[in-house]
Amino acid sequence: MKKNDEFIIKIEDMSVDGLGIGRYEGMTFFVKDALIGDIARVGVTKLKKTYGYARVIELIRPSPDRGEPPCPIHRRCGGCQIQALSYSKQLEFKQKKVENDLRRIGGFEEIPIEPIVGMKDPFHYRNKAQFPVGTDKDGHIIAGFYAGRTHSIIPTGDCVVGVPVNREILDVVISFMEEHHISTYNEETGEGLVRHVLIRYGFSTKEILVCLVINGQGFPGEDELAERLWKIPGMTSFSVNINQRQDNVILGDETRFIRGKEYITDYIGEVKFQISPESFYQVNPVQTKVMYDLALDYAGLSGSETVWDLYCGIGTISLFMAKKAGWVYGVETVPQAVADAGRNAKINGIKNVEFIRGKAEEVLPEFCGQQPGGDGSGKRGSGSEAHVQKVLDRNSRMARPDVVVVDPPRKGCDERLLETIIEAAPDRIVYVSCNPSTLARDLRILCDGGYELKKVSPVDNFPQTVHVETVVLMSRVSNEP
Ligand code: SAH
Repeated sequence: MKKNDEFIIKIEDMSVDGLGIGRYEGMTFFVKDALIGDIARVGVTKLKKTYGYARVIELIRPSPDRGEPPCPIHRRCGGCQIQALSYSKQLEFKQKKVENDLRRIGGFEEIPIEPIVGMKDPFHYRNKAQFPVGTDKDGHIIAGFYAGRTHSIIPTGDCVVGVPVNREILDVVISFMEEHHISTYNEETGEGLVRHVLIRYGFSTKEILVCLVINGQGFPGEDELAERLWKIPGMTSFSVNINQRQDNVILGDETRFIRGKEYITDYIGEVKFQISPESFYQVNPVQTKVMYDLALDYAGLSGSETVWDLYCGIGTISLFMAKKAGWVYGVETVPQAVADAGRNAKINGIKNVEFIRGKAEEVLPEFCGQQPGGDGSGKRGSGSEAHVQKVLDRNSRMARPDVVVVDPPRKGCDERLLETIIEAAPDRIVYVSCNPSTLARDLRILCDGGYELKKVSPVDNFPQTVHVETVVLMSRVSNEP
């Protein structure tokens, strides 16, 4: 067999990235744009020893699970890997993915898994969009999305997972640029002005923030463009962000506000957030609320508990829990996120939280009076008198956790942190995860350390994509790790 060979294959499964999986002549093939149940003629794109990659040339018998994908460019864009699958099948796929990972990687047999929580309307859920701006071969200005993993722009503002007002905003910006002959940025030459249009939308307040990312110090006619944008109901903040670097990072370091506020406001439940162009904020606020309600329920708070929210970001979970807890500590490495978390506590009048900048795996052992790294030498991580005093002060404020919440990035928790949590022996651990395979690995370590799985709830925060979030409750079963 060689590249470009064609054959007919039946798709029996789907990979975690949403590729169809089938077997042909003893080899496993991962097929782009194929779904479970499809019978298709495919062409080989890449061959390895025991497996290969292929693409669909012709669907001979489409899977009965195919839905009507509403986006005409979903195959080229690649952002919504499983949009062609009906929503109920998408949910089934994600449910199985969580269950399989817990079995296969975590070695769990009895899994207390709840049915995945899907969305009523699984479209238009994203509150943030970043459209690259460029020029097509006829010289027209376009904005849209990058095709697959390339940097060529497919013009569209009608992304089906984005908010409808995106289109309106892009139309205003593009026609203004056309009229005033404002150039678009060219990645190859590093020349031209406008790079990206960043749009954020507050789902509960309907406030809109627009930020133009530019390769220069100013945008000609910015006040006039602001005037036009302000005809769109909800416009609240307009700024330019200056990015004159030649790399793939979208935002530069400096943002200049042209009209309106420096942020928009949004709520998750009753907690208020101020979102600036740079802030980290959950992109699907509706499902985030579902997820954090579950986390709060699982934490089982009565009002007196000490909660540690590790990997706390801008403090969303901490603030969500604070009203029902005695004291909440949030730990986060990114300084800007820690600052945002502090400000968010303030604007909500929440006083029983403290945000600490640092690595969760280093901060927790220090504060709980354990030895960082657990080497038993009795030495602390950083030894200044003042620092030790601070730690002792905090210890007297009951730093020992009753409940630990973790919400780590895709790579999961640092192993040292898991050991520390086991040593700190909270009654309950709530694990919020965006990656079932690292979740499964970490849950195994915690269970071997004296915890048991109580509840596993998958939540669909990203319909049409392969991603799934999971909220897990574990409780302590023994005092002997
Ligand atoms: N619950 C948060 C989001 C968590 S995303 C919210 O809703 O805002 C994961 C966060 O973990 C990111 O903000 C990342 O900066 C942070 N992080 C990554 N490694 C870390 C570590 N070792 N210790 C603490 N925080 C870390």
